[in-house]
Amino acid sequence: MSLPVTETYKFNAPDGVENRLTRYRGGAKGPVMVAHGAAVWSGMFSLPTIQENFTSYLAKSGYDVWLLDWRASIKLPLRQFTLDEAAENDFPAAIRFIKEQTRADSIQAVVHCAGASAFFMTLASGLARDVRCVSCSQIALHYKVPPAMETKCLLHLDAVLKSAGLDYLSSTDNPEHPHFQSLFTDFVNLVHHECTSPVCHRITFLFGHLYRHDKLNAATHDRLSEQFGKCNITAFRHLAQIIRNGSALKYDYGRDGNLKLYGSENPPSYLNPEHLRIPITFVSGELNRTYLPKSTEKTFDWLRTANDPKLYKRHVVPEYGHIDNFMGYRANTDSYPLFLEQLEACPA
Ligand SMILES: [Zn+2]
Repeated sequence: MSLPVTETYKFNAPDGVENRLTRYRGGAKGPVMVAHGAAVWSGMFSLPTIQENFTSYLAKSGYDVWLLDWRASIKLPLRQFTLDEAAENDFPAAIRFIKEQTRADSIQAVVHCAGASAFFMTLASGLARDVRCVSCSQIALHYKVPPAMETKCLLHLDAVLKSAGLDYLSSTDNPEHPHFQSLFTDFVNLVHHECTSPVCHRITFLFGHLYRHDKLNAATHDRLSEQFGKCNITAFRHLAQIIRNGSALKYDYGRDGNLKLYGSENPPSYLNPEHLRIPITFVSGELNRTYLPKSTEKTFDWLRTANDPKLYKRHVVPEYGHIDNFMGYRANTDSYPLFLEQLEACPA
């Protein structure tokens, strides 16, 4: 399916970091900001290898679609950052930019994985008051991971890699560290057997099982290297800290660093429901083995206790994993409608 007219914009967040927005004018239902996860890019929403991707689906439904490439995007220069920095800078700047361009009073948002996590930090900090509703994929402010992932985090894999001199992890070929990458590839090929793609195996080792193989078509699986890339070690470490804690908190700089920056020995929590009194739909894949469905269930239950429970909805998509909610060849019938339903319920 051909997409409507596209415009691309570059803009700088307040701390000078470049972000990008790609616009698909689908109709008059107002702007929707769509945010990707870590070590990927906005291309996960506009895959050329499936019959109807998420961008086409939203555009067809009449929305003005704005795909955000925030600082975690593999299409932007690799940099070290905490999710706090992205939350304070990228999302507020993107919301402002979209509002200015469209002259809309408010926008809607669809957010996924680490992009959802960072966006919810923005929201919880009161920095996204112009967002009137949210469709959230896989995680928000609570994290529950499978035991294997927990073990990696508890063993401080992140710290081990950093001490080996690596400041990023990559699922694609890595010419700067050929020796390490070759050992890494041999290792992950030994432990992951679902297919013969080394890129796919490295993705699984780094992030857990990001998709169910039966939900991706062959064309998408063959071209995974176009969708995945480097994840900087600082963001990875922040995610690991949050996983160990169970819910979102600011980056842990150690006792002295925390005292200096936060005035407390431990980093402050993001669990403040005050600014989350807007309609939110949470969507988890039933078979997500990166972030278990329990993750969104915890945020959903917490919010329903703290605020008006009628504001929140939650869906578990049968037989789906993590990113196949967007990249699956049948996602347009199996999961996209769940994200759309929330947008439709909050017209401009
Ligand atoms: Zn595979």
